[in-house]
Amino acid sequence: MNSVCKSNDRLDTLVPYDPKYLPAEAFLAANENADDVSETIRNAIEARLSNVSLNRYPDPLANELREQIAEANGIKRDQVLVGNGGDELLFNLALAWGGPGRRYINLPPTFSVYAQNARLTGTEVVEIPRMQDYSIDEQAVLERLSQGDIDFIIVTSPNNPTGNCASTDFIERLLDASDALVMVDEAYCEFSQTSILSLLSTHKNLVILRTFSKAYSLAGVRLGYLMAHEEVIREFIKVRQPYSVDSVSQIIGSCVFENRDEFAAKIERIIEERGRVYDELKSIDRVEVYPSSANYLLFKVPDAAKVWAKLYDRGVLVRDFSTTPGLEDCLRVTIGRQEENSLFLEELRRILVIEEQ
Ligand SMILES: *Cc1c(COP(=O)(O)O)cnc(C)c1O
Repeated sequence: MNSVCKSNDRLDTLVPYDPKYLPAEAFLAANENADDVSETIRNAIEARLSNVSLNRYPDPLANELREQIAEANGIKRDQVLVGNGGDELLFNLALAWGGPGRRYINLPPTFSVYAQNARLTGTEVVEIPRMQDYSIDEQAVLERLSQGDIDFIIVTSPNNPTGNCASTDFIERLLDASDALVMVDEAYCEFSQTSILSLLSTHKNLVILRTFSKAYSLAGVRLGYLMAHEEVIREFIKVRQPYSVDSVSQIIGSCVFENRDEFAAKIERIIEERGRVYDELKSIDRVEVYPSSANYLLFKVPDAAKVWAKLYDRGVLVRDFSTTPGLEDCLRVTIGRQEENSLFLEELRRILVIEEQ
């Protein structure tokens, strides 16, 4: 047959995820850590990889890494689940708590993957847009939740791409407002140095998502994890692909986690650079920059798409959000190495001030 029947109707409106990867001198588009793992960690990884059995299936639950994460966070191993990147765990959330006849609260503008997963699983998306300054419309969320028909909600803190955190007080009220599962996506918590972890022991409806992709320099490896009540974790285990986390990734994750103290100084440097880039952006006429607790900054500039293209022509790749509802004229720049950040600032200043485009 040289034809194929139609795919699932739910795919009709979906567009494949496009990270918009383009080669550039300063790659400031994906919120990665600009520094790769250290020589010490690389050597530890290589030593352990040399005797891994590639012919055998991995431990399905990555128990060694799971144990390390549990111990570091003062919880039990059964309260942790490791996934093939945070993205897999986000998909599993939609599979386990979503589905036809079920509802998810989305707080746009936020990470686009959430709504995509909901649509893919036939979950109804209830949108509660953020306020003008991108803070959450707390009252609207609490009111909607109190109707009692919501199955899950994701609160991203710090939020991607806006950079602001949700208040702990609000998350606590959210957890108490209904029995809906509340995921707090802490993909960037190392840069905000805040976490909702202490609420885990008193709230069975809380699930925390973290990743090795950002602060821990492992975007290429695909490792993320959840922390929740063991009964919640058990539901996630039911829907996951048994061998999604391969043996090589498990070893790399363990080595990085063991040596995570090494990252503290690098994270400090990124936070300092974020302050510098923020101040500099603030001083440029026609740029409006938003405060951020993450490793990126969202800023507004007239003719953003044009500015994006001009930056790219000069070797600086940032992320263009100007066609996303609520993010008109917005670009997001990842905090990279000092010289990359300086190149970005210099070129942006040249485009906006000197050339007056
Ligand atoms: C990057 C990111 C993740 C997870 O990314 P993975 O690389 O799949 O671990 C989750 N949530 C947000 C908001 C992110 O930006």
